[in-house]
Amino acid sequence: MMTDLDTAWAERWLRESARVIALHREELIELDRAIGDGDHGENMDRGFGAIVAQLDEEAPASVGAALKMAAMMLMSKVGGAAGPLYGTAFLRAATSVGEAEALNGTEVAAMLAAARDGIVARGRAELGDKTMVDAWSPAVDAAGRAGDGEAALGAAADAAEAGAEATKPLVARKGRASYLGQRSAGHLDPGAVSTSLILRAAVTAAMSEIGAGGAGGGR
Ligand code: ADP
Ligand code: MG
Repeated sequence: MMTDLDTAWAERWLRESARVIALHREELIELDRAIGDGDHGENMDRGFGAIVAQLDEEAPASVGAALKMAAMMLMSKVGGAAGPLYGTAFLRAATSVGEAEALNGTEVAAMLAAARDGIVARGRAELGDKTMVDAWSPAVDAAGRAGDGEAALGAAADAAEAGAEATKPLVARKGRASYLGQRSAGHLDPGAVSTSLILRAAVTAAMSEIGAGGAGGGR
């Protein structure tokens, strides 16, 4: 059973993202230890933990407000390369969403494209450079070909997972992993994996009322 992609969904998306990032914290640390400095899982868990704390403090007034709050937390709490990149992504996503009360398929695709474009503007990575762009870009393309909002999210999450898997044989050309050269091949990119977790969380949030901040929780 799908729900509207409204403010309550946006809150569930952020809470579900925090849950799955925490669940995969060690995995993200291990992936980043292999081709980076091992901080990605801890950084992301800290950032999404701060988002949940803020949600507990004050319910967001709109989808855009929820995404903007997330952007501020990610920018100030995550650090490393990923903090500013995810912060920019969520900030651009918030601007794309604007005052919309609930998102349709076109708006979901536009939101994801804005996020991806923000990451590219900030980090200058291209497809195939073995970064989070390798998950975001196919997600954007797939969302643009899908139908309604839920279909767009589902297609985006599937494509992001495939994109993250496809980073394994690649040699990194951007970020810390690029210092390893050929030795970066054979490992998944941690940022592409965290991206696929966050986009899958958006789907889970659309399929369930679980994790909603307020009352009314049945399915
Ligand atoms: P750091 O590399 O500073 O330790 P993190 O470990 O938190 O930062 O994040 C690493 C992730 O950031 C990489 O797995 C990659 O997906 C992403 N990343 C790094 N540089 C770029 C870039 N220029 N463009 C896009 N993504 C990047
Ligand atoms: Mg790192």
